[in-house]
Amino acid sequence: MKYYIIPIFIPHLGCLHQCIFCNQRKITGRQTPVTGKQVAAIIKERLVTINQDRRIEVAFYGGSFTALPEAIQNELLEPASQALKHGQIHAIRLSTRPDCINEQIVANLRRQGVSIVELGVQSLDDNVLAGAARGHNSQAVVDAVKLLKNADITCGLQLMPGLPGEDWPSLIKTVRHAIRLSPDFTRIYPAIVIADTVLAEMYSKGIYRPLTLEQAVVRSAYSKLLFERQSIQVVRTGLQASEELDNRVTVLAGPYHPAFGELVDSHIFYLMLAGFIEQNVTTTESDLIIHLHPQDSSKVRGQHNRCITRLEQRYNLKTIKLCENIAVKKGTLLLDYQGLSYGFNKNMINCI
Ligand code: SF4
Repeated sequence: MKYYIIPIFIPHLGCLHQCIFCNQRKITGRQTPVTGKQVAAIIKERLVTINQDRRIEVAFYGGSFTALPEAIQNELLEPASQALKHGQIHAIRLSTRPDCINEQIVANLRRQGVSIVELGVQSLDDNVLAGAARGHNSQAVVDAVKLLKNADITCGLQLMPGLPGEDWPSLIKTVRHAIRLSPDFTRIYPAIVIADTVLAEMYSKGIYRPLTLEQAVVRSAYSKLLFERQSIQVVRTGLQASEELDNRVTVLAGPYHPAFGELVDSHIFYLMLAGFIEQNVTTTESDLIIHLHPQDSSKVRGQHNRCITRLEQRYNLKTIKLCENIAVKKGTLLLDYQGLSYGFNKNMINCI
């Protein structure tokens, strides 16, 4: 069943620290916090517009929800809890900081019907966390995940490749550590330079250089492959496109792209094809025919056919032909080369 999310933005509510990369008011386009009454009105207004079978969730984003006093948390949660009790929605989810989770907080979330918590983790490298002024270390993440899992609350981790001080070894360490924590899902949002942040100041002084779009795509693809290989779902790569993010007033620099997730998936297909070619293609004189599911076509081609052109040029191939076939499983490629057929999927990419 498809999802329908009723988002409630609480820009910076509860935040104990001003993380160097964050400006929720710019990202969400919201300047003022919400009240319980407003939450109730938003839910009511949205529910009447849903006329299809959907899994409906109320989601609190953009602040440190569990850092708020319990009375305020409950005021905001109450309308969602009522909607849950009356079967109008299926779940309540929220995002918060790892160091704002303890037994009492978790017990209250359970009482209010919250079943999904996303932790803003960003990195599990303590030096990177300190550089981002997060105000907590990686142990706080370990402790929070444990408490949430013990309480049977679905736990997601949000990671941010490309923060100051992070290099490839640091990212690999973060991904491997995150895998050991066994979260239910992850989101990968590469760092971008948002106006009116410390990161923006660092960028203007030349102290911080964001990842290029290509670097961010490669790092996100690598992380996604590793998580999925351990059956940890990556529910999103890259920030959701919005009017605020699409203008160069909010995003000053960095790897923001409205179709970032598509670029990541396209790079994964590129790695699959490059891996196949390196292992199996012996002569550039033969055609390579790729049978693929129609819904994978744009990802395999890449924007402006870039993925295919890169392969042709890099490996000096004569011709690569694409044949859409509904019978091919999504995410899988069937490759015909010199009279032989090969099946290839992303688990066959050598990336460790
Ligand atoms: S990243 Fe989270 S904790 Fe840090 S300022 Fe933004 S909303 Fe607050």
